[in-house]
Amino acid sequence: MSVAELVARGTDRVEEHASLGARTTYRVGGSVRALVSFRSQSDLDELGPLVFATGLPFVVIGNGSNLLVADGEHEIIALHLVGEFAELTWHDDLDDVHVVAGAGLDLPIAARRLSAEGIVGFEWAVGVPGTFGGATAMNAGGHGSDIAASLTSATTYGAEGQREWTRAELDFGYRTSALGARDVVTSVTLGLRRGDAAPSLEKIKEIVRWRREHQPGGQNGGSAFRNPDGDFAGRLIEQAGCKGLRYESAVVSDKHANFIIVDHDGRANDVRDLMRVVAARVKATSGVVLVSEHRFVGFGDGT
Ligand SMILES: Cc1cc2nc3c(=O)[nH]c(=O)nc-3n(C[C@H](O)[C@H](O)[C@H](O)COP(=O)(O)OP(=O)(O)OC[C@H]3O[C@@H](n4cnc5c(N)ncnc54)[C@H](O)[C@@H]3O)c2cc1C
Repeated sequence: MSVAELVARGTDRVEEHASLGARTTYRVGGSVRALVSFRSQSDLDELGPLVFATGLPFVVIGNGSNLLVADGEHEIIALHLVGEFAELTWHDDLDDVHVVAGAGLDLPIAARRLSAEGIVGFEWAVGVPGTFGGATAMNAGGHGSDIAASLTSATTYGAEGQREWTRAELDFGYRTSALGARDVVTSVTLGLRRGDAAPSLEKIKEIVRWRREHQPGGQNGGSAFRNPDGDFAGRLIEQAGCKGLRYESAVVSDKHANFIIVDHDGRANDVRDLMRVVAARVKATSGVVLVSEHRFVGFGDGT
């Protein structure tokens, strides 16, 4: 199966030579051979096998809030879940609430809606600008919680068809899960509980306020590096004298040293190169080897 055949069958659901970098929160970086947007399970059933049949590697993109796509065009197919995959439903079971979220749904939208409905325990997610799919792959978290804390199961689609995962099978760690590059999360279920909407909405406001105060604006991908055990990547980067350090179009934020900001017309490769410089300086000053939190696409070195 060639990409041309996929394009012919996919009509308006397949975009050739699509810019992927522009769909990330860094808003820089290259394009992919094709971007396939699935709006429903029937799209997935129809086009999914055709994607696999091209034999090209693929990557799922949610909101691109943790992705850095190398400059240039890549022989990769990107998959994106929209429409039916961005729905949120729930049902009550006494004080427990079983929530089903589509993988393409934004966490902040879900956090606000659930709070307003008096469904509590998911407020932390208002500050994480990703989708449920990306959050499950990465075990996104913040403000003392993470997706693993409430996720009860996830459904994926892959070459072998649909699979249900229990939380134990997902084997969540700090910003990691057992999901492989070929597992496409389509939906997740959360176990939350009934509570008061007013304090929950107040918590949401507080988190949003905290984020505005502590995190920089501009084109960035959130934390560039994971926090090493018992320490903070931002503290180590600052200690290494890297705050404000610029490499071509990328600069270490003055506000939060673990954030890299890229210029409006900048290059993804500059972000990656700056990350290498920062990691080397941290290693030289503290001996700590920083590990990237970002997922890389198209850099050709297996990362
Ligand atoms: C300003 C800012 C603040 C942030 N704050 C936080 C924070 O507090 N805590 C935190 O954990 N993260 C934070 N992040 C990072 C990011 O928002 C999270 O990692 C988020 O979970 C990524 O979701 P996404 O949909 O954007 O995924 P993407 O960036 O699109 O993808 C990330 C990874 O998930 C995979 N993926 C995406 N969708 C699916 C799917 N449906 N199925 C399988 N795999 C999928 C991708 O292939 C990729 O490997 C922040 C980012 C920004 C820009």
